Amino acid sequence: MTERRPTSDELRAIDRRHVWHPYTPIDRWEQPGREPPVIDRAEGVYYVTREGRRLLDGFGSWWVCNLGHGYPRVRDAVRAQLDRMAHVAIAGVVHEPAAVLAERLCAAAPPGLTRAFYSDNGSTSVEVAIRAAFQFFQQNDQPKRRRFVSLEGAYHGDTIGAVSVGGIPLFHERFGPLTFETLRAPTPAGGHGPHWHVEAFAALETLMRDNASELAAVVIEPLVQGAAGMLMYPPSYLRSLRALCDELGVFLIADEVFVGFGRTGTLFACEQAEITPDFLCLSKGLTAGVLPFAATLTTERVYDGFRGSADRTLFYGHSYCGHPLGCAAALAVLDAFEHDDVLDNAAARSLQMQAWAQQMKGRPGVADARVTGTVAAVQIGGDSDYTQTVGEKIVGEAFDRGAWLRPLGNVVYLVPALTITAAQLDELLAITTAAVDAALTDAG
Ligand SMILES: *Cc1c(COP(=O)(O)O)cnc(C)c1O
Repeated sequence: MTERRPTSDELRAIDRRHVWHPYTPIDRWEQPGREPPVIDRAEGVYYVTREGRRLLDGFGSWWVCNLGHGYPRVRDAVRAQLDRMAHVAIAGVVHEPAAVLAERLCAAAPPGLTRAFYSDNGSTSVEVAIRAAFQFFQQNDQPKRRRFVSLEGAYHGDTIGAVSVGGIPLFHERFGPLTFETLRAPTPAGGHGPHWHVEAFAALETLMRDNASELAAVVIEPLVQGAAGMLMYPPSYLRSLRALCDELGVFLIADEVFVGFGRTGTLFACEQAEITPDFLCLSKGLTAGVLPFAATLTTERVYDGFRGSADRTLFYGHSYCGHPLGCAAALAVLDAFEHDDVLDNAAARSLQMQAWAQQMKGRPGVADARVTGTVAAVQIGGDSDYTQTVGEKIVGEAFDRGAWLRPLGNVVYLVPALTITAAQLDELLAITTAAVDAALTDAG
């Protein structure tokens, strides 16, 4: 006898009693009459509800599913690894998936990155870089270098360390007393004119020169500041920043947790600026959403800075560091990028998105529409404000039409699987256009 499965309504009731959802205002979530979908399966670019309704996944399952859902290579690799070994503590032992993955990640990454430190999510991949950068200078004759520079609107995760270098007031301000102080530079993206990134860089340069002897590292999201509202800026900013960091002896931490693994059109966003950061933080697309997993790549110079007596060790780690299943998933993701024309498809889909964005720009109520790689964003009215409700309205309208999106204030964005077909993307774009029109008509 198999046990009877709870019905959708029963599941909603259980959820309401016991689940605390992330980034979810409770009263709005519990509003009477609100019936969140119960998702039963996910296939390719679709979620399938308990009732069999198919919803186009327009937000890459919270930005992680770069290869869609259930990508065969990844699924098969994880299954095979599960039969062999699911866990071994990576301290004190060697295992094949971790060793081979480190070698392949270093080969795929910008030249000069030779070491991989494993952890289990995007926030920890940044935390590792912050700790290593700080400790490096402490124990290598530059103890005054203790400060970090980050950008307005930055999002680097939700641990206290990652929040310290974050710059989104609604998420981060409350934790001010618990965080360490960082220097904040203006965002190079945003609605201040086409050359704003040049002015923003000049401001960053002044800030860095004024504090040069105290700086440990600059932390950035290359090309797209995701959580800030998919704010975009050109590779030239990264090139200038790399040169400035070199001149001032400051580490550059590239947080590619979101933009890595093809999202901006190249495997890593830093490639477009032809730079190598001192730390490259990877998660999300690294395992195509199959397992929580992360890696922080760094250079031989940084690694060598931890040699010597035992007290120079990086005393940092997590129970799931180098998890064999995560490694297996990541190896299969690298295979997909090498053998399955993922980036070619993404390039074609990016053109489709760019044509759509041009057309969205002219619509009433639309302040801006922008595309980098396969990230598309439409901004409604003034500045991004997470608490504005127009985004939620658009999401509701899209849901009624068969697509699942998430609001980011007054920005509606699309980060579909890089493997989405032309026809599926056309449908997603049409739904989004209709949802924007309906929400704005409704509002006006
Ligand atoms: C999502 C994200 C993180 C945090 O990753 P988690 O796995 O959610 O901890 C860090 N940096 C960037 C740029 C992100 O988009």
